[in-house]
Amino acid sequence: MSTTKKGPAGALSADKAPEQRNITIRKEIQSLLNEGEYSVSELSKLVRKSEKDVCDHLEHLLRSGSALVHPARCLKCDFQFEDRHKAKKPGKCPKCKSTHIEAPTFVAAESD
Ligand SMILES: [Zn+2]
Repeated sequence: MSTTKKGPAGALSADKAPEQRNITIRKEIQSLLNEGEYSVSELSKLVRKSEKDVCDHLEHLLRSGSALVHPARCLKCDFQFEDRHKAKKPGKCPKCKSTHIEAPTFVAAESD
């Protein structure tokens, strides 16, 4: 385990949320994904963080290979959004311009 030593406590941006808190939220999201499949808006309610924060955590989990995304899909023409590193729901379909988009969902990556 690495413990990052910081300078004198409160030297700068003491009002910032400690990194420890972020790690806790990420673990919470990770353990939810171990149990089921969730969209950003569902996770946002469960961990009581904004969708933007949840997206940040999810993107981190995706990049580190801890989570997988089931990509967003257009409900009109069935176009699949293939960007697997974006947690945010796309605004509209690039193919048919429909805004009826099924939100991407997230699950824990299989570890075997
Ligand atoms: Zn479409």
